[in-house]
Amino acid sequence: MPNVSRLPGRSEHHWLWQEGAACRDLGTETFFHPTGERGEARSVRDQAAKEVCALCPVQTECLRHALRVGEPYGVWGGLTERERRALVGQAVG
Ligand code: SF4
Repeated sequence: MPNVSRLPGRSEHHWLWQEGAACRDLGTETFFHPTGERGEARSVRDQAAKEVCALCPVQTECLRHALRVGEPYGVWGGLTERERRALVGQAVG
């Protein structure tokens, strides 16, 4: 019989916030840039994502997650990857 007392505890609190996400039923194309996207196209897409995030009831939890795990791409919690890197003091490329 395995000793389950040594298993990690419940972990659903790490992802349950996603059930309230305003982007839950949207495609990823608004939040993640396609390869090579630059300039105005990127700004327009990022802004559209940020507008969804601005009305999202779990924006704080989303941004906290992105910063905690270092999400490298996409708009999370209303910030682009560039903005998140600047927030935590990493070099912005
Ligand atoms: S803050 Fe934005 S990216 Fe995060 S769950 Fe909400 S809509 Fe999605």
